[in-house]
Amino acid sequence: TSAYINEYREESNEYVVLAEHISANACEEEKRSDLGTAYSWDELEDEFLENMDAGRHDYSHFDDSEIPRGEREHMQEFGAKSILYIPLITKEKVMGFAEIWESRHKREFSSEEINLCHLILQQAATALENARLFEETQSKALTDPLTGLNNRRGLFEIGHIEFTRTRRLKRPFSVIMLDIDHFKRVNDQYGHPVGDQVLQFLASELRSSVRGADIVGRYGGEEFSIFLSGSGGTAAMELAERIRKTIETTPFRVEGNLIRITISLGVAEYNENSPNLETLVARADQALYVAKHKGRNRAIFGK
Ligand code: GH3
Ligand code: MG
Ligand code: MG
Repeated sequence: TSAYINEYREESNEYVVLAEHISANACEEEKRSDLGTAYSWDELEDEFLENMDAGRHDYSHFDDSEIPRGEREHMQEFGAKSILYIPLITKEKVMGFAEIWESRHKREFSSEEINLCHLILQQAATALENARLFEETQSKALTDPLTGLNNRRGLFEIGHIEFTRTRRLKRPFSVIMLDIDHFKRVNDQYGHPVGDQVLQFLASELRSSVRGADIVGRYGGEEFSIFLSGSGGTAAMELAERIRKTIETTPFRVEGNLIRITISLGVAEYNENSPNLETLVARADQALYVAKHKGRNRAIFGK
């Protein structure tokens, strides 16, 4: 009468209802959607987990006196009389399990039915694993491994979505480009690995300086970008100046050394002269160039 696919989440040791199908024959209690609900993996019976690990099915009948109390309560709450459990398993790893419910009456499951379910669930498990792997490579391709920030590709991928959205809502959008001053000297004096740590330090300072909706990324080398959706030029300049000051006054401590860096920043705000994100970034970059030429350690607003 209904069926569910539950995905195991290692990080939280829970399983989450990923998909459900509730048929027209389902009883009233069963018709309530359970999508997205997370249940504790630890509360599952050892015997049940052993079966799942071994790729074997399991089942419970509501009238069975031996089923655990929690299980019985859950069946009562949602109206199930019999449930068949089939593991979702790939390369000997349990990714979750499926539940096939009968709520009209007690139901034995034949070995043909069970085999068919195994066959279908094997394909579902493979599809789920492929989706996970795809997600993982996608996010790796968009993330800078040193700082954990968006790389240039990731920055523009999210940036375009935000830019289009704020344009549609006719809200302001600003870009800050920033570059470490004389960073070569840091590498020359302390070595490249320490230079890397300084980049990580700057990245975490930037992340904690912005609001959740703002987009921070490593544009390349020692150059970073911040996309502020919903912020106009004045707010962006204020933020740029605040970040500049924080970096100037916060030395970075490594191996007994205190390293001080400064940054130069260029700021640009969306207007009719910058029809897209690329031209807006270019204007912020020009302003950054001016900041360098005027003596560094400053923020300049690009007209
Ligand atoms: P300016 O004030 O004009 O920006 O001077 P600068 O020395 O910072 O500028 P320049 O662009 O000439 O040099 C940037 C340096 O950043 C050179 C390069 O070795 C260093 N750099 C780029 N990427 C990395 C990195 O991933 N790690 C380390 N340690 N250094 C890097
Ligand atoms: Mg530099
Ligand atoms: Mg540079």
